[in-house]
Amino acid sequence: MKILVPVKRVVDHNVKVRVKSDGSGVELDNVKMSINPFDEIAVEEAVRLKEAGKADEVVVVSMGSKGCQDILRTALAVGADRAIHLECADGAEPLAVAKCLKELANREQPGLIIMGKQAIDDDCNQTGQMLAALLGWPQGTFASRIEPQADSIAVTREIDGGLETLKLAMPAVVTCDLRLNEPRYASLPNIMKAKRKPLDVLSVAELGVDITPRIRAINYAAPKARSGGIKVADVAELVEKLRHEARVL
Ligand code: AMP
Repeated sequence: MKILVPVKRVVDHNVKVRVKSDGSGVELDNVKMSINPFDEIAVEEAVRLKEAGKADEVVVVSMGSKGCQDILRTALAVGADRAIHLECADGAEPLAVAKCLKELANREQPGLIIMGKQAIDDDCNQTGQMLAALLGWPQGTFASRIEPQADSIAVTREIDGGLETLKLAMPAVVTCDLRLNEPRYASLPNIMKAKRKPLDVLSVAELGVDITPRIRAINYAAPKARSGGIKVADVAELVEKLRHEARVL
């Protein structure tokens, strides 16, 4: 079985994001970019499935500008076999990404697509669901456990109030939640080896997908700075503040 893992290049999760002074977007100049954390989990899971003998090949794909090749190399360094860079301008919307991934899935014919549940830049949480719908494949979202069986896959999902286990016919789309696994670090020898692994570049135009934006962002603004907390002397003071200052009682 081949596993396809879409990975997005986003502002590193340790960076404090700054909004541009004209409110037109987020400052990306000289900002550290990394693989989306949920996608790291997806790559780790795919590599573990390969190590367990349940997959033969892990192919990672990223859509965007040339910088995507850096995160593809990172994914190759932790065990992916092959990478595909779908080249286009950064900022493609989830529907456009899903349409391109559908075309790629038709070419690559993976048995499974494992991806992040959401990208931490726009927090859309849409691409996996749209991709499954466009392909007409079953979907298991917010997975905290994945167990491939003979011709199906059991996906345990994190839902409100507990866990739900679904059995999906393959091929299928699975999106990962935080507790699925703990991604490994790339070792130096593997980073060196990753430089020799195949990385193909495909222009989005070759896929014949129209990725013209359909959404116009009006304005970006940073959240208001929070005022510091206070300590209260006793329960009576807490209740009094909740009642008269916060007005929540
Ligand atoms: P989103 O719907 O934008 O929150 O993204 C959900 C998931 O879709 C991400 O975790 C990635 O696995 C995948 N994805 C989104 N955008 C891209 C992209 N430009 N390239 C590759 N994968 C992407």
